Amino acid sequence: MLDVSVVGYPRIGADRELKKATEQYFKGAIDAEGLARAGSALRAAHWDAQKAAGVRYIPSNDFSFYDTFLDTAQALGAVPTRYLELGLSPLDTYFAMARGFQRDGRDVKALPMKKWFNTNYHYMVPEIDARSRFALAGTKLLDEHAEAESRGVATKPVIHGPLTFLKLSRLADGTAPADYEEAIGEVYAELLGRLAARRIEIVQIDEPILVADLSEADLRLFTSLYSRILARKGSMKVLLQTYFGDVRDAYGAIMGLDFDAVGLDFVEGGENVRLLKETGFPEGKILFAGVVNGRNVWRNDYRKSLELLDDLGRHAAKGIVLSTSCSLLFVPYSVKYETEMDFRYKRHLAFAEEKLVELRELAELFGAERRGTDERLRRNQEIIRDKTQSRDFFFQDVRDRIAALSKADFDRSPAFAERFEIQRSALKLPLFPTTTIGSFPQTGDVRKLRKALKDGEITEKQYNEKLRSKIRELIKLQEEIGLDVLVHGEYERNDMVEYFGENLPGFLFTQNGWVQSYGTRGVKPPIIFGDVRREKAFTVEWITFAQSLSAKPVKGMLTGPITILNWSFPREDLPLRDIANQIALAIRDEVLDLERAGIKVIQIDEPALREKLPLRRANWKKDYLDWAVKAFRLVHSGVGPATQIHTHMCYSEFADIIREIEEMDADVISIEAARSDLTMLNVLKANNYAHQVGPGVYDIHSPRVPPEEEIHEALSRMKGKLDVAKIWVNPDCGLKTRTMEETVPSLKNLVHAARSMR
Ligand code: GLN
Ligand code: ZN
Repeated sequence: MLDVSVVGYPRIGADRELKKATEQYFKGAIDAEGLARAGSALRAAHWDAQKAAGVRYIPSNDFSFYDTFLDTAQALGAVPTRYLELGLSPLDTYFAMARGFQRDGRDVKALPMKKWFNTNYHYMVPEIDARSRFALAGTKLLDEHAEAESRGVATKPVIHGPLTFLKLSRLADGTAPADYEEAIGEVYAELLGRLAARRIEIVQIDEPILVADLSEADLRLFTSLYSRILARKGSMKVLLQTYFGDVRDAYGAIMGLDFDAVGLDFVEGGENVRLLKETGFPEGKILFAGVVNGRNVWRNDYRKSLELLDDLGRHAAKGIVLSTSCSLLFVPYSVKYETEMDFRYKRHLAFAEEKLVELRELAELFGAERRGTDERLRRNQEIIRDKTQSRDFFFQDVRDRIAALSKADFDRSPAFAERFEIQRSALKLPLFPTTTIGSFPQTGDVRKLRKALKDGEITEKQYNEKLRSKIRELIKLQEEIGLDVLVHGEYERNDMVEYFGENLPGFLFTQNGWVQSYGTRGVKPPIIFGDVRREKAFTVEWITFAQSLSAKPVKGMLTGPITILNWSFPREDLPLRDIANQIALAIRDEVLDLERAGIKVIQIDEPALREKLPLRRANWKKDYLDWAVKAFRLVHSGVGPATQIHTHMCYSEFADIIREIEEMDADVISIEAARSDLTMLNVLKANNYAHQVGPGVYDIHSPRVPPEEEIHEALSRMKGKLDVAKIWVNPDCGLKTRTMEETVPSLKNLVHAARSMR
């Protein structure tokens, strides 16, 4: 029997209680005490579930009202002065950092948010200004441990480590992580001292940054920080926890320090096995072996895991503890809420609760005498071997098409320069052509319609008719505003990935599979269960209807294969590149059908292009970008030279992958630029970016209406940096979340600014 450890547990609540409670608190419907009670109830439920499953190392302080990285900032005293000056309670100061504060004539923006490594979770980026003083603040860490203890649960407190904290925070200008060594090292040392004084058995310090690229200076900082901190741990054990990959650069440094236990990820960090075998694992340390995947939803293959654990056991003299590969924050709560999903599919899935069962069964099987004939192993292997997945969603035609792909399928001809001229005379657009990114405000009436259809209150025919009249109005409105390339508004789409998944066999959808994306926001990622195929066109009717209403070109709107892949839970029995190509072929069919139906401009959105970029730069191209770019090229390589292909990207930095973006070979790209103050322009210029581009001229995430002069000024700057013949004028992103009252004047100003530039 092995001991079991959980790195972290989901915290939003099986029924999203956390979202509901925090939102009520924000509205003033409950007070701080009410919110505290809700948090306490959630923690209790999570500890009880883990205790019942026999977990030996149950985390505490993995709970958070918004984000644990922000909790850490507050606990270390790293709160920017402008929030402290609001004079609020610690809880409200915390929420001011998370959401911004606007009241009584005071207006302070929230801290920025960034993606947590290559997951879809976003953390708040702490800011350490020149006046920040590190000093322990608050008692959350100790309180939650004591709270669990009073329920009879001895927990392992979890904290983010100082290296990850410094590397992911925004530091005062001109400073580097090493400048904070003394200050932050001292606070962590004091913290460990306090935990040790409470006779806490073990503390988990998370340092996921150790799986990324590290410089010599980072490694030196790591070693000296921990030499200082660990000197104060007394008899308390310290577990250094890593996840999301292997620790190849830091392996030596980690093993040379006085950690009692080291947690390694063997799911995403396959390389860790080699490191361990070649370099050896120190005799005095316990290995926490992450073998149950915290980032995907499939059942664990017990036979494989047991073989791996046997192998690891031989190299860790002091023993191993069975662990999740990372926190379970990235998977939904429980499959048991999926009452509408067919059992044949459901049996392949393991969310957080099911993973607790897997941990227990694996731990028991590990020590079992006649493991080979154990019923639990037999049942597991039967599920693993069950071919429902590939029988119900195995499409020979798709497999054949993938196998038959050749280089030519990924190349569009003629080259961009020639297409540019052909399209110029075909489309006859003015200079500084204006367009939008696709969606228009999803107002209450649209959402009501969708709900009415779902509840069976209206027929599909009535629904379609209503949406058609929305489209009719929108086309008329865009013509009045004077836009050059129109859109149909995307009213029929709930979500840009979900809508595509629903129309492509191979995807599964959950009823309650919520995963925290940030703070109060959850997402329900679809599951790519089997082969993906497009059976019939599903966007063509909408787009051709919109096109029939105007002499101006209407853009066909599609979601690209990489975005669909990156916002789903992918199957694990096919390489990601094959899944990407399957989706690409499905979208390709849609592109060609749109072209055949007379659509001249087609946009294929890839806002999530960057999301699965490997954490180590050396792997960017060969492990990801090479096939991601090719999948996109496969989508549009079949169209004629006069058909104009657009793409759209947002949410992240594109400067360092600008070459690959150009290689995607779209004719036009619209890109988020307004928030970064158009610094994107310098990048485009420096790289001689040759294709057409529409750097967003205003930020659609804000309700503000941009004045005409401001847009004019942005366009003038573009003119100074880019080829005038290749500049497009558009907002930053889709208008879905805005109101019509904000959108119409904004677009009018945009059109006027473009006209005055001509
Ligand atoms: N076409 C989509 C829209 O306008 C793009 C959304 C996005 O970039 N996330 O809504
Ligand atoms: Zn966007």
